[in-house]
Amino acid sequence: MPANILSGKPIAEAIKSEVAAEVADLRSRFGFSPCLTVVRVGEDPASAVYVGSKVKTAAEIGMISEEIHRPVETSRDEIVAIVDELNSRDEVDGILVQLPLPKHVDEREILERIDPLKDVDGFHPINAGRLTQGHDALLPCTPAGVIEVLKRSNVDVAAKHAVVVGRSNIVGKPMAMLLLQENATVTICHSRTRNLPEITSQADILIAAIGRAGFIRGEHIREGATVVDVGINSVSDPEFAKELFGDDLEKRLATIDKRGSTIVGDVNPKEAIEKAANFTPVPGGIGLLTVAMLMKNTVKAAKMRRL
Ligand code: NDP
Repeated sequence: MPANILSGKPIAEAIKSEVAAEVADLRSRFGFSPCLTVVRVGEDPASAVYVGSKVKTAAEIGMISEEIHRPVETSRDEIVAIVDELNSRDEVDGILVQLPLPKHVDEREILERIDPLKDVDGFHPINAGRLTQGHDALLPCTPAGVIEVLKRSNVDVAAKHAVVVGRSNIVGKPMAMLLLQENATVTICHSRTRNLPEITSQADILIAAIGRAGFIRGEHIREGATVVDVGINSVSDPEFAKELFGDDLEKRLATIDKRGSTIVGDVNPKEAIEKAANFTPVPGGIGLLTVAMLMKNTVKAAKMRRL
């Protein structure tokens, strides 16, 4: 039987309406709306799209949102000054510095400069440390979104073997920590892991956060597993697209023809759908949760600091 497709859209919409209700409640009971400020430096086209969607979603659910956009040549000192000012502005609840920053700026330094109480991306070492120690924290949005999808799709996590492929600070590591917190038995794999298919094919829950189009194939997947595809990659080669897509191949080829490329995750969708019990699609899966969880984090940050 083909996999049950775990669509991110209804889950992201549900989270956004829950957050909108919380925002309305904060306004009526405490007289303020949470405020999200996004800092973007340079002209990276993908960053412009991501930031646009974050600011727009925040406004749609009744929050105050603003974008501070500076040119690519903005100095380290100027960016530090922007972050310092946002840290000190009492009405700013969430600060998000969109990555990547230009090469002359040390991303780590800037992320560590953000007040941990306003760190709605959850990348500050204080929040990462709190997560690791099992304390309440602002959680990185993408892995927190994966947990929401699993819970709201009634996929049991406790006592299951979860295998995470990828160990970045943004996705892989916090993902593993959150699964551990949900009482899964967790294995983390990376580029130096030997016999990857042997390990991933033992997973009840397989999370792919690698950054390589269609890398996880049928041989990596246990029959009946839940496969969560975090990857976002673009494919422009029609021959490769034929290996990746099944029922939607014609549509995908038309997209490549029209726009030059189509989006695919880190999992080969055709092979995953044949073997998995549950599968999150790309696009339309985890990507939609990331923005919804950012909204949730901003309200959480506002409550932690102001109430
Ligand atoms: P990184 O490049 O930071 O990390 C990739 C990880 O994959 C690394 O740990 C790397 O191992 C591992 N890896 C690379 N090649 C292999 C391999 N051949 N076998 C096993 N492991 C491998 O990427 P991110 O974590 O930032 O992102 C991962 C994916 O998720 C990307 O496709 C990205 O676009 C997507 N993403 C999606 C988001 C969303 O909103 N849905 C948000 C953030 C990211 P090593 O550490 O050894 O190098």
